[in-house]
Amino acid sequence: MRTINTQDIVPVIEKLCQQACYELNDNVMNAFQEALTKEESPIGKDCLSIIIKNGKFAKEHQLPCCHDTGATVVLMEIGQEVCWSGIALEKQVNEGVRLGYTNGYLRKSVVSDPLNRVNTNDNTPAMLHTEIVPGDKVKITVMPKGGGSENMGAFKVLLPGDGVAGVKKFLLETVQKVGGNPCPPYIIGIGIGGTMDKCAWMAKKALLRPIGEHNANPFYAELEKEFLEAVNNTGIGPIGYGGRVTALDVHIDYFGVHITSLPVAINFQCNAARQATAIL
Ligand code: SF4
Repeated sequence: MRTINTQDIVPVIEKLCQQACYELNDNVMNAFQEALTKEESPIGKDCLSIIIKNGKFAKEHQLPCCHDTGATVVLMEIGQEVCWSGIALEKQVNEGVRLGYTNGYLRKSVVSDPLNRVNTNDNTPAMLHTEIVPGDKVKITVMPKGGGSENMGAFKVLLPGDGVAGVKKFLLETVQKVGGNPCPPYIIGIGIGGTMDKCAWMAKKALLRPIGEHNANPFYAELEKEFLEAVNNTGIGPIGYGGRVTALDVHIDYFGVHITSLPVAINFQCNAARQATAIL
């Protein structure tokens, strides 16, 4: 067994919060460049050029690439040969987020209670997910998630007989309804199957997959390509001003499901497609 003191993750998460908010990774920046070559509308091209310029400026000057620095989603993939010592893990994750947002001058966007709405002033609590994986390493991913895109997510339980056509219809209805609100060009994560909770988490986690990388299952890989084409045919375009590129990619994850169910979750990741990862 490998023992890690939970204190060790605090500075790592602090840095990841800042890195994610300041630096869009090369995969995302390259996808913008490629989108620029495909975009046909002049205003769409202008929007993409501004997004690229903004991303470069933010990285160079270590400033947030968007004013909305999001709710902080933290995924910890913990090797099953790791055991923890020290203060409770969740407390230390929140301490890392608190330091990251405070010392990084990132906007504090989280309230402690959804109905009474008092700002916690340090962006806690983190939206923490833990998964147990083989090995003795810990992979930590921070994904700040802006309200504009997160608010546009949707979930529906279809009938099994609705099949692929039903999933596609739900996706296109959702895309048409949300229009430019999730700040396109965006990535769409789609969870299909599982239970309600599993389905929503698959949609969120699918957003972490690099743009251009398809599902390992050829059937779902083909669906991803078909859905991307259909979304881009809506003409919503960059920032919703009209154009060819509405989505940079569509990522589907699927899971086993009850014989009576076909749950589908859709999660949008806006053009501030932030994520940063470290391995301990
Ligand atoms: S949806 Fe994304 S790009 Fe738009 S304001 Fe929110 S964080 Fe920024």
